[in-house]
Amino acid sequence: MSKQKRIVILGAAESGVGAAILALKQGYDVFVSDAGRIADVYRHQLSQRRILFEEGHHTWSLIGNADEIIKSPGIPDKAEIMQKIIAQGTPVISEIEFAGRYTNAKKICITGTNGKTTTTLLTYHVLSKAGLNVGLAGNVGKSFAWQVAEENFDHYVIELSSFQLDNMYSFKADIGILLNITPDHLDRYEYKLQNYVDAKFRILQNQTAADAFIYCADDSLISDEIQKRKPLAQCYPFSIQKEEGMSAYVKDNQIQLNIQNNLFTMSIFELALQGKHNLYNSMAAGVAARILDIRKEVIRDSFADFRNAEHRMEFVNTVHGIEFINDSKATNVNSAWFALESMQKPVVWILGGIDKGNDYSMLFDLVKEKVRAIVCLGTDNKKIHDAFGSIIKDIVDADSAQEAVAQAYKLGKKGDVVLLSPCCASFDLFKNYEDRGRQFKAAVRSL
Ligand code: ADP
Repeated sequence: MSKQKRIVILGAAESGVGAAILALKQGYDVFVSDAGRIADVYRHQLSQRRILFEEGHHTWSLIGNADEIIKSPGIPDKAEIMQKIIAQGTPVISEIEFAGRYTNAKKICITGTNGKTTTTLLTYHVLSKAGLNVGLAGNVGKSFAWQVAEENFDHYVIELSSFQLDNMYSFKADIGILLNITPDHLDRYEYKLQNYVDAKFRILQNQTAADAFIYCADDSLISDEIQKRKPLAQCYPFSIQKEEGMSAYVKDNQIQLNIQNNLFTMSIFELALQGKHNLYNSMAAGVAARILDIRKEVIRDSFADFRNAEHRMEFVNTVHGIEFINDSKATNVNSAWFALESMQKPVVWILGGIDKGNDYSMLFDLVKEKVRAIVCLGTDNKKIHDAFGSIIKDIVDADSAQEAVAQAYKLGKKGDVVLLSPCCASFDLFKNYEDRGRQFKAAVRSL
């Protein structure tokens, strides 16, 4: 009898535990190792199935003997354990790559720097409303591997970050969506934009002429790269700047989807998701839905009644005529650009946190046009003062969500909007962006 193949999983959260469950089902010798503490829910899942695991450290003698490693996307290659594994040459894959081996379901995969979660949820909403037997996976929702092990979906809508794409090799997206590429996470890509672009373009990997590739034609990085790569898949570009040759575009305030000369139109004012960035997200989801032959009425209804996830341009409350919006998920300059761009009232803007090498200059025009005052919410706000000090007179500091809200409320006038769209990561003052958003909302509600 041949020796049972050993799979070691690094990281025991949603994706790692899902991978362990699937690996066990597939008859592998499975071991899970997490350098930190494993959350109780996941420890319980592992114990219940008698899957062996360790936490708080990595034991090389139990890891170095693996035939294959499944790595959580959160672990960088420069981590000590990864350096040893890479030096030894053990194959390393992502949970998505692993799960892709064990399902014949149609996979609609969404990547990009910004808008992944929104577009994934919207696409999933349309497909479920159409009655398809569909799962929601990847960064949002349950682990893909877990669902492959325990569910029987015909379709999956999967959100893919560049970190997941990094360790994908044989996986194929039946429909791939690439929303945009702007500099982000460069610390994980040797500060080379091309490395990050290459990771995103793994979405095209293994696609054939029978597959579909939906992408934003207004993104020059994407367009240039496509010239170089010449995708084999059927291409479906979308744009709000041009119409010719586009599968989706905006004309006379209507979203138009034109798939195989069959036109779908919907007024942009009827869309549940407002703002220019969401036009892109809606077009991408709409094209995917039309490729899957989903009825126009279903798309229309779904686009009108969709509710986005928390912390993405989320309306919180209006207090004495001042509106408060929580866009805590805007952790880079580009996403904050779209937030500001969509504002129709004078803005008191709350930003700050851990700067990932931000270049604020692309915001100058918008800030001049729309922002009345700035509240810096971070431990080190010097870069924000330096960037905007000569454009905005009122710039104040705050070191808690409550103080930021109080300051913003003081600076705001009736008819203004207070926008938390921080451009930065949250770890200096908060656990994560969700914590930042929730504390912001709590502070607004207690005004
Ligand atoms: P992701 O999952 O890629 O981080 P989200 O849908 O969670 O994307 O949105 C993250 C942030 O980016 C939010 O602040 C949102 O308002 C903004 N955003 C959403 N879609 C886009 C887009 N297409 N382009 C730029 N910014 C966007």
